Amino acid sequence: MNGATSDAGRDWVHGAIDALEREAARSADTHLLKIDLPGFPGIDVYFKDEAAHPTGSLKHRLARSLYLYALCNGRLREGQAVVDASSGSTAIAEAWFARLLGLCFTAVMPACTAPAKIRAVEALGATCDLVDDPATVRTRARAHAVAGACDLDQFGLAERATDWRGNNNIAESILGQLAREPHPRPAWIVCGAGTGGTSATIGRYLRYRRLPTRLCVAEPLGGAFARGWRAHDADACATRSTVIEGIGRPRVEPGFLFDIVDRVVEVPDAASIAAMHLLEALLGRRYGGSSGTNFVACLRLAAAMRARGECGSIVSLLCDRGERYAETLFDPGWLAARALDAAPWRAALLACIDDGGWREP
Ligand SMILES: *Cc1c(COP(=O)(O)O)cnc(C)c1O
Repeated sequence: MNGATSDAGRDWVHGAIDALEREAARSADTHLLKIDLPGFPGIDVYFKDEAAHPTGSLKHRLARSLYLYALCNGRLREGQAVVDASSGSTAIAEAWFARLLGLCFTAVMPACTAPAKIRAVEALGATCDLVDDPATVRTRARAHAVAGACDLDQFGLAERATDWRGNNNIAESILGQLAREPHPRPAWIVCGAGTGGTSATIGRYLRYRRLPTRLCVAEPLGGAFARGWRAHDADACATRSTVIEGIGRPRVEPGFLFDIVDRVVEVPDAASIAAMHLLEALLGRRYGGSSGTNFVACLRLAAAMRARGECGSIVSLLCDRGERYAETLFDPGWLAARALDAAPWRAALLACIDDGGWREP
C-alpha cells in the first residue's frame, strides 16, 4: 500500500467528519424522564431516554464515536467496506451512519437476534452475517477485516472512542439536566454493560468532576461482568445465558473497567421482563429488556436507601425501543415457550413501588 494518503483521500475523510458533526448538530439531546414511585418519598428516580435517538438506542452515540474514531485514526477510507460484531442495536446505528457516509456495512450478529433488529439493519441497506454461536461474532468480524473491511470493533474500542471528559457525553448530559432538580448530585447512576462503554464513560466522568455519585452495573443473573467484577478476573465467563439483548455478555469484554464500578446488581431475566412491562405502564411507551434490568436495580438501590432513611436521586437509562422485541420479549407465547413467567416478579415489584420495601418472589 502507498505510504502517504492522497489529497483526494484526505478530502474525503474531512468531508465524512464534517457529515458526522452536522448530524450531531441537527440532533437534540435525549430527555431525562422522572418517574413517580409512591413508596419512595424523598427519593427521585430518573431515566434518560436513549431510545429517542434517530436509530432508537444508546448505540447512536457509540456509532457516531466509532466512525469518528476510525476516521481520525486514518483507518477508514472512501469506498472501504465497514464491519462490526453486534447484538443488534449497534448494527442498526452503524448501518444508519454507513448510509449517511455512503459506505457499505456488514453486521455480524448472533442468529438468535430479535428478527425486527435484523430487518432494521437490512432496511438501512446493510448486510447481516448471522452466526450460530454468539461467542464467535468478534472472530468473524475480524475475518471480514482481514479481507479489507474497516472493523469498527465496538467491543474493542467503545471504552476509548468516547470522549469521557465531556463533549456532551452521556454523563455530562445527565448531570447538566439534573442541575435544577432537588438532588442534582445523584446517589447512584445505574447502567448495563454490553461493550462497557457507557459504564466506562460515566465512571470516569464522575471522578473527573469530583462527584460522590456511585456507579451500579445492572447485570443479568450469572453474567460475565458480575463474575469478573467480583473476582477481578478478566477471564471470567457467564454461568448462564440471558434473553436480555445488549447486556449479559458471555465473557469479559476489553471495555469492562471494574475499578470504577461500585456495585453490581444481578437480575433474573423474569424480573427484567416484569420491570420492562411496568416501565410501559409508568411511561406510556415500550422499552427493551435491558431498561427493565436497570429498573429492577434502581428499585433495589432505592429500597436500601429508604431502609437507611436516606433521600437523594437515582438515574438510569432507557436503552432501546421496545418495538424491537414485539416478537420476542413482548410476545407471551415466546416467553411461555422459554418457561419465563414474569407474573411473580410483577407482583413483587409492584408491591415494592407501592411501599418501598424490596422483596423477591
Ligand atoms: C449496548 C447496550 C447496552 C449496554 O451499553 P454498553 O455501553 O455497550 O455497555 C444496554 N442495552 C442495550 C439495548 C444495548 O444495546
